[in-house]
Amino acid sequence: MRKGEVDMQKLYYENPYIYEWEAKIINQREKDNFYIIELCDTAFYPEGGGQPRDFGTIDGVEVVDLFEENGIVYHVVNRRIEKQIVNCKIDFKRRFEHMQNHTGQHLLSSVFIELYDAPTNSFHLGDDYVSIDVGIENITDEIVQKVEDRVNELIFKNIPVKFYIVNFDEAKKLPLRKLPPTEVDIRIVEIEGIDYSPCCGTHVKSLGEIGMIKILKTEKYKNMTRVYFKCGMRLLKDFQEKNTIINNLNKKLSVPQNEIILKIDSMQNEIKNLTKELNLQKEINIEYIAKELINNSEGDIISRIYEDKKFDVIQMLGNKTSSLCDKPVILTSIPDKKVILTHNGKINLNCGQIFKEILPNFNGRGGGGPKFAQGSFEDIRNINDFIQVLIDRVKELS
Ligand SMILES: [Zn+2]
Repeated sequence: MRKGEVDMQKLYYENPYIYEWEAKIINQREKDNFYIIELCDTAFYPEGGGQPRDFGTIDGVEVVDLFEENGIVYHVVNRRIEKQIVNCKIDFKRRFEHMQNHTGQHLLSSVFIELYDAPTNSFHLGDDYVSIDVGIENITDEIVQKVEDRVNELIFKNIPVKFYIVNFDEAKKLPLRKLPPTEVDIRIVEIEGIDYSPCCGTHVKSLGEIGMIKILKTEKYKNMTRVYFKCGMRLLKDFQEKNTIINNLNKKLSVPQNEIILKIDSMQNEIKNLTKELNLQKEINIEYIAKELINNSEGDIISRIYEDKKFDVIQMLGNKTSSLCDKPVILTSIPDKKVILTHNGKINLNCGQIFKEILPNFNGRGGGGPKFAQGSFEDIRNINDFIQVLIDRVKELS
């Protein structure tokens, strides 16, 4: 608390477990269609020290925002509250999660100092994720494991967490990592005998209430490491989700959880081999169809309409056919409403030019180069007429 600050009764400092209370409205003013309320006592935490604001209601009206000015917490609601004495409630499930994760952060940061002399440079506690940035450039699995083991060992000892206000002289005697400016009375959150942190957040009263801490992942961030973790209820929820996934994988793959990765590796290998084999078979198949197409075609142009083949297949078939004979090849995919014209380059015929010339007459779009062109159509009825004109034009030119 800064000197000269208004001594509003902040219940969350007195007792962070208060979630319902009666309070008197001492001021209410309108601003931009919202009402800003000042209460005689409040348990609404307004945001600070990396911890987000509380959610809740005043006389059943949702508090849509909170802010603090000169030591006073202001509550923003979207309609006037007529009563003087109001019932206030905060969403304690959310608040308690913040308490678990905030205290968890103090503990985790102190263990990084204890074991690796690595300071925490920033802290994020959001609805999305919780993380700290620690001063370790290259973190290893071993470091993560040791830190995780140590923090949980301390949690199981259920060490008390205390808070108190000290002045500068008293602060000097505490093992603080950074001394506060002299004019400020400072709130210390102490994990008894282990960690002393200046902090304005809300905390659990003993480490056991954190439940457990799990480091979920780490990533390089500037020349530090961003450590993502979860505590308490959030961790339980995460574990429940992951356990459901693992159980489903157990069932789907018919292997115990420690063999899931092996099983997926072997399935991926199998898919790779099957894909290879399939591609080989496709090539053999395409060659067979191409030869049949050549043998069954009369005249100087090969043309065939396929009711069942997709564009990628007629494209491969076109390439193969034109590599095996010197005739222009016109192939049509009815499912994709596409037509291709191709040849092997031994004929003096510019496929792209012809498409550019006649496609617009049939509401077709496309184009291409001298040896290959493609056109696509909105309406299947235009395709037959287009092919007739295309054949005539190719005959004329080649
Ligand atoms: Zn803190």
